[in-house]
Amino acid sequence: MAPVTRVAIIGSTGSVGVNTLRVIDALAPDYQVAALAAHSSTRKMAAQVARYRPGVVALGDASVVAEFERDCAAEGVPVPPTLMGETGLRELGGMDESDIVVSAAVGAAGLAPTHAALAAGKKVALANKEAMVIAGELLRSTAEKHGGSILPVDSEHNAIHQCLRAGEPPEVRRLILTASGGPFLDRPSDSFDRITPDEALDHPTWKMGRRITIDSATLMNKGFEVIEARWLFDFDPSAIDIVVHPQSIVHSMVEFVDGSIVAQMGTADMRGPIQYALTYPRRAGSAVPRVDWASLPPLEFRLPDRNRFPAVGLAYDAVATGGTAPAVLNAADEVAVDAFLEGRIAFTDIARIIDGVLASHAPSAPDSVEKVLEADRWARRRAREAARSRAR
Ligand code: MG
Repeated sequence: MAPVTRVAIIGSTGSVGVNTLRVIDALAPDYQVAALAAHSSTRKMAAQVARYRPGVVALGDASVVAEFERDCAAEGVPVPPTLMGETGLRELGGMDESDIVVSAAVGAAGLAPTHAALAAGKKVALANKEAMVIAGELLRSTAEKHGGSILPVDSEHNAIHQCLRAGEPPEVRRLILTASGGPFLDRPSDSFDRITPDEALDHPTWKMGRRITIDSATLMNKGFEVIEARWLFDFDPSAIDIVVHPQSIVHSMVEFVDGSIVAQMGTADMRGPIQYALTYPRRAGSAVPRVDWASLPPLEFRLPDRNRFPAVGLAYDAVATGGTAPAVLNAADEVAVDAFLEGRIAFTDIARIIDGVLASHAPSAPDSVEKVLEADRWARRRAREAARSRAR
């Protein structure tokens, strides 16, 4: 009998968390839920406790514990041992009772537990984008030092992880990230300053959270993915390209020194990358729908226009600067995107604000979680000031 793999899920009530539970259902009894963590969705968490009976849970927001206890009573389950706040998330990330940690919290809150899991030498299935963008260098060195490993769940990086298996590291020439291109790929650039939040939220292929949808419209999301790829695969950013591919069937590619390009294709279903990360280096059967060749549209590829989408260049600049600059890029972007969504600034101001905050930042070495979060807070303050001065 194969030993049971015990999985801790940080962010279990979000869409990656829920899909991870579906994958574990399909892989049972070889995979089991050891621990669950969420920010504050107590009703969903209580229902998950009733179904999966984790040995421990964590709530990021300590103020909802009473609510959680009521919700457990309503589900008719005893309240499991409950950790709380950032310390609780960190403890859950590093605890002995799990073999794999799925890191799927949203935002900078995912950094501390991801770091704790890698410091404990665990395998981390990483879906939390911010952690790798703001602290990729720290997470990479922590994993190397303690024998931890990172398996990317983001579809592009998961694809590259798969493609890299076709050769040895010195045989790789370039990494090629595909981008859907967002809703403004063909919009005349002289009308970009009139883009409304509703237009920007109407993404052609993916239904996602509000911030990542705007980040897809500016292409900043792809810039973040360049930074993630830089640290995940230890690759110089100058050898990481972006190719626009609106159909989102090719999830990314790797070019080898002999000119061969290996692409990973499949239906856009996040259970695919989640399961790959859980079962690697094995593969297992899956309920993910197969590609239907009869109804496949023509596949297009083109280069992104960096003048129309200045966010791409800002991300390359931030990762070239290094240190805390990527953390500042991420924080300034989040504040600017919020200001745009609230109608306070123009779409084109997003990149201008980030550019200004980055220019006034003196980067330092990101050698601890605290240092990274300090740069994050500094950038938020600066970006809020910049947004106020641009307010319409
Ligand atoms: Mg992605």
